[in-house]
Amino acid sequence: MPRLFGTFGIRRVANEVLTPEMAVRLALSFATFINGEDVVVGRDARKHSRMLYDAVVAGLLSAGCRVIELEVTATPALQWACRQWNMWGAMVTASHNPPEWNGIKFMEKSGKGLDREKEVEVERIFFTETFRRVSWPDIPQETTKRNINFDYISAIISRVDAEAIRAKSFRVVIDCANGAPSLITPYLLSSLGCHVVSLNAHPDGNFPGRNPEPTPENLKDIVILIRYGDFDLGFAQDGDGDRLIVITEKGEFVPGDLSVSLVAKELAQRPEEGPIVTTVATTHILQEIARSTNREVVTTAVGDLVVAKVLQERGGIFGCEENGGMIFPDFVWGRDGAMAAAFILHILATQKKSLVELLGELPPYYQVKRKTTIDPEKRERILAAVEEKTASFKNRITIDGYKVLFEDGSWVLIRPSGTEPLIRVLAEAKEKEKAEALAAEYLKLIEEAQR
Ligand code: MG
Repeated sequence: MPRLFGTFGIRRVANEVLTPEMAVRLALSFATFINGEDVVVGRDARKHSRMLYDAVVAGLLSAGCRVIELEVTATPALQWACRQWNMWGAMVTASHNPPEWNGIKFMEKSGKGLDREKEVEVERIFFTETFRRVSWPDIPQETTKRNINFDYISAIISRVDAEAIRAKSFRVVIDCANGAPSLITPYLLSSLGCHVVSLNAHPDGNFPGRNPEPTPENLKDIVILIRYGDFDLGFAQDGDGDRLIVITEKGEFVPGDLSVSLVAKELAQRPEEGPIVTTVATTHILQEIARSTNREVVTTAVGDLVVAKVLQERGGIFGCEENGGMIFPDFVWGRDGAMAAAFILHILATQKKSLVELLGELPPYYQVKRKTTIDPEKRERILAAVEEKTASFKNRITIDGYKVLFEDGSWVLIRPSGTEPLIRVLAEAKEKEKAEALAAEYLKLIEEAQR
């Protein structure tokens, strides 16, 4: 049976593959799987999200589900609502993808993304068209409409030292990617007493300001604004508000590895027990933080859904990814950009230090990220060579690619892409030269194995 779902939900080009008809069938498949139980539905601010959202609602109603409509909201806000109300969820969003894309993410009652085993069942129902359709008296006549954006903001505020943050009157720029965060994060920051300058903060599915993925190339405007203005820091989100990128008071892009380390360091010092959960691609700084607080780092494959799942299973204190994704397990079982922003302000306010100062206190690591295209026919041969070279290392992790950790904290990860003919090589070490050398060594091995 063909696979519908990617790493988190379904993503396709709107009206080419992801048509309203397909959205109805997907919603019907999900509704059949959950036996017509209640569902919370939301959407991001894309041009075609309204169209697909209405189709999703129609499919759910056709299966007899009662529906709570959140309209435009951030993915973590919907996940928060699922958890509050113990209800399944469906979010129409393509996250950070280009404007023509859209997608649907289904959520468990805990608010975590749907487990892979359950997705397989939804796929089976989709392809066999064994839909649950109720007879007309059982079709709910109406949906319930709720705007939870300000409840979600209040819930975030209750989890940080709001008084300490307000006392600092931070000057903050927030870049909302013309997406769903426009309706949430600027108001959150205002409520925390910040002087807020918002950028790309009108919901617009044409994405006139920038591409919705918060990469350094896409964040030039906020960097310039902060560099030439007088600000304490900046935040940038993606289209559905689960990701957060931080910009320093000097206008420097903070790599995700460092922003998550800052938060992990703060949380690890609290009395709650439990590991830090992160992917194989994330910095060794987390290992140092864990060691100094008598904790473990549990390593997962790459993907926020798997981090959330392991975090839940292992009772972790914090889940994170190298791209800046942060999961606060006592709040939302998924990445949460607005919560992350509030928490970073909390750290700044309670430690009474600037972002640059706080980043300077993290253990210094240098990271190299490379990728190389390969001949798909030689993929197995290349991976066999990597397998052979890394087999004898005492500390090797093979849950997602090949990762070798060395005694001094340096590591290298060789990870083939699941979708493209390329292999990524990541290396990290305390010295730049060592990280460069590690990456070069494995890039050379890949090149030689291809000959
Ligand atoms: Mg996203």
